[in-house]
Amino acid sequence: MSTVVDALIANIFDRTAENRDGTLADYIPELAAVAPDSFGICVATVDGHVYEVGDTRLPFTIQSISKPFTYALALADCGADAIATKIDVEPSGEAFNEISLDPHTERPRNPMINAGAITAAALVAGPDVDSRFERIRRAYSRYAGRALTFNDSVYASESRTGHRNRAIGHMLRSFGIIAGNPDEAVDLYFRQCSIDVTCRDLSLMAATMANNGVNPLTQDTVLDPALVERVLSVMSTCGMYDGAGKWLYEVGLPAKSGVGGGVIAVLPGQIGIAIYSPRLDSHGNSVRGVEACRALSSELELHFLHVTRAARSAIRARYSVSDAPSRMRRTLAERATLDDVGNRGRIYELHGDLLFAGAETAVREIGGSEEGLEVVVVDVRRVDEVGGIARRMIETLRADLTERGCAITFVDPVGLLGNTHSNLSGSTGRVYADLDAAVQWCEDILLDRYCSTARQSRSVAVSEHPVLSSLSPGQLEWFTDDLETRTYARGEYIVRRGDGACGLFLLLSGQVSTTVTDQSGAVHRIVTLSAGMSFGEMTVILDSRFLNDVRTDTPVTVAVLTADRYAEMTAAEPELKLALLERLAVGAYEQLDVMLRSVLGQGGSR
Ligand code: GLN
Repeated sequence: MSTVVDALIANIFDRTAENRDGTLADYIPELAAVAPDSFGICVATVDGHVYEVGDTRLPFTIQSISKPFTYALALADCGADAIATKIDVEPSGEAFNEISLDPHTERPRNPMINAGAITAAALVAGPDVDSRFERIRRAYSRYAGRALTFNDSVYASESRTGHRNRAIGHMLRSFGIIAGNPDEAVDLYFRQCSIDVTCRDLSLMAATMANNGVNPLTQDTVLDPALVERVLSVMSTCGMYDGAGKWLYEVGLPAKSGVGGGVIAVLPGQIGIAIYSPRLDSHGNSVRGVEACRALSSELELHFLHVTRAARSAIRARYSVSDAPSRMRRTLAERATLDDVGNRGRIYELHGDLLFAGAETAVREIGGSEEGLEVVVVDVRRVDEVGGIARRMIETLRADLTERGCAITFVDPVGLLGNTHSNLSGSTGRVYADLDAAVQWCEDILLDRYCSTARQSRSVAVSEHPVLSSLSPGQLEWFTDDLETRTYARGEYIVRRGDGACGLFLLLSGQVSTTVTDQSGAVHRIVTLSAGMSFGEMTVILDSRFLNDVRTDTPVTVAVLTADRYAEMTAAEPELKLALLERLAVGAYEQLDVMLRSVLGQGGSR
């Protein structure tokens, strides 16, 4: 099926194909033996889709497009520091085959001109030229995702005529840039230039660079991301020879051309582009290659300095614990305290990729919060990626806040924050898998500090149970007369969804949670209840089934008014029933208020 993108690329192809300017390279005689009007464009995405138009499967020699790939291999073999003592990274403004070194450093100015490229080839590790060439060929093949082959006749042709490159080799030897036999280094360079590729291969090689060194089709990690960055940097400033400045200005993509007629361009993180058209301009760049790249860049908006928008704030929501309470049901006194001091506990939800800028805004806001902040929850469940610097900044924020007496925890179920996660699992705190549990932790800290009286007690006697507080002594006696006391171990189900009315449960000690299980099997906590609270009231009043499970979080004691006894009450103690229903209705409205806050307080994001 032809897509919008196919149509865009085909359109650029058709327009560019009309350009017949330029001439074939003939200083290597064999290069002049190609069909001059061959033309192909490939755009490969980092997820491995390749858009192709024209002669995309026609082999031609890679020539100078080999340079960044051999430079990458030399960087991996010797390390960036060692390579830097041999090859500079300054744009030269010179032709690719200039016989020159930088007059001050006496080094080749960059690895994209021949002097630098021959040096890079000389630095590739291996016991002899053959095995070093084999390593180079294999490396290129891994970028392309298939075994690339060697073109004997182009190699022989260049070998016969490549005196200028031999001169460069001997110059490098005389300045001590390369050790050993310079002719061997030049020969290795000729061989790497004579590897056959197609336009499609080149687009995948470029896409591997775009994909941080991982081949999008084979998933083979060909190059360390830190080295990808270095190679793309020199491609940006030096890839198009003396046209490099204009190229960067107009096209804005790290690129490399070769006299075989190929051009590659890389949009980091997104796509690899390759064009094949063998007629060259005076710099040795493919005429149509340059034109098509320019058109692709402007029409597909690919310039790598194109700013789509300023970084979004990394904080997607901020609210206090009183804005959005946890699902832990609180007593009235606790609720009142949280309403009062809830502002001292804040939740920050972060999202997107946390790189320097995102982490900076988040850390500045959280760390700069007004006086009086005592507990912070940072929820990173919606963060996609955390850079090393962001992780360090958040770790420093954690340490700063802790020092200022502000407790901090993270909701980080997959351990995105790495070190922070393991530090927190020590004595300084915990990392939560779920926001609600973290908010509850936040509330508990504030309640410990500000609600010394009237905290939820660990256990209550039946006669002191708040549900029964408005009953007269006589009513209380009738009610408690026939209650069943039951105990449960931790993790037991008291009732399950679908169970029929089995009574009004008064919690005397311990904690239970009501939960629902969704279709995927995930368990959601609706509310957590503790001593002095009740459940099952709706099922007895309406004689209906339980809509949720009730499961113990700790060992639990309950007193149960059975459904039969409740039915008896209707006839025997109508006043008692009325008082009880009034109390339950008040409780229900209190809960509704908490639930509403939970939904509104954080934009329904939980
Ligand atoms: N093998 C060629 C040379 O050094 C490569 C040049 C190029 O592609 N620009 O002459």
